[in-house]
Amino acid sequence: MKKLTVIGAGVMGRGIAYSAATSGFEVQLYDIKQEALNKAKESIFSLIDSSREKGFLSENKAQQGRENLSFTTSFEKAVVNAEFVIEAALEIMDVKIDIFKRLDELCPEETILATNTSTMSPTKLAAQTSRPEKCIAMHFFNPVQKMKLVEIIRGLETSDETVAKTKEIAETLGKETVEVNEFPGFVTSRMNCLIGNEAMNMLLEGVASAADIDKAIKLGLNHPMGPLELADLVGLDTRLRNMEYLYKTLGEKYRPCPLLIKYVAAGRLGKKSGKGFYEY
Ligand code: NAD
Repeated sequence: MKKLTVIGAGVMGRGIAYSAATSGFEVQLYDIKQEALNKAKESIFSLIDSSREKGFLSENKAQQGRENLSFTTSFEKAVVNAEFVIEAALEIMDVKIDIFKRLDELCPEETILATNTSTMSPTKLAAQTSRPEKCIAMHFFNPVQKMKLVEIIRGLETSDETVAKTKEIAETLGKETVEVNEFPGFVTSRMNCLIGNEAMNMLLEGVASAADIDKAIKLGLNHPMGPLELADLVGLDTRLRNMEYLYKTLGEKYRPCPLLIKYVAAGRLGKKSGKGFYEY
């Protein structure tokens, strides 16, 4: 497979597009907003430059990476020749359903349709298409270029061949994989959302400052990042949607912390908006 399409050019879409383009795939990056594509282009090209300067990419691979990337607001152009599609749009089921329906209409019938959802059901997305055996969830981590894992989630009808091809693509991008049976939040988001929400509740209760909660978890429990700085990196709007979905599907222990709800209402979305639990 050589032709890969990424739907959504936000935090994750950019990272996936960078990793795929510098690993030899011809990448079409699509977004509904031209502004998102402009930002994505700037951030991916600057990541290619800094990776080359630091010696992570050879001059040749950096050049190939730039040439492999196309940016478009035309859905049809982005998907008509795609062999593999990774959807990384908003964590809203209706948005993803609409995208999967359109992908099924326009993509060649052998194309695999993957979603980068952090929590939601690939089976439900697959059911919108005439190719449920070719639908799967492929959960990358942020920042994609640094994080080693891809969680592969099999929907009810996902075929062994689709799982094998998805794994092969993840490995070509230099990732390790775990295979998970579908359940809300899979392994990683189910755990991570709980830790993050508890940290937010502690902050709300005045147990410690944000910096001290993060420091305690990093130095005391040996996590590489504190849960509040990690939530800021993820994006608090995305995290709130994850929590709302897990609350709906898994129950009370995932009730989103009121502080998270308040921050999102105020437009404090974390690193991407310049302010979250910390200022950037
Ligand atoms: P984001 O808000 O940074 O970006 C979403 C992008 O999708 C925006 O550029 C937006 O314009 C675009 N978009 C909205 N509607 C669209 C549509 N109909 N078609 C195409 N593009 C559309 O979000 P993100 O953090 O990149 O998250 C994307 C997905 O990845 C979500 O499902 C999220 O749960 C998942 N995810 C996020 C993280 C993380 O750390 N942020 C990690 C793993 C998985």
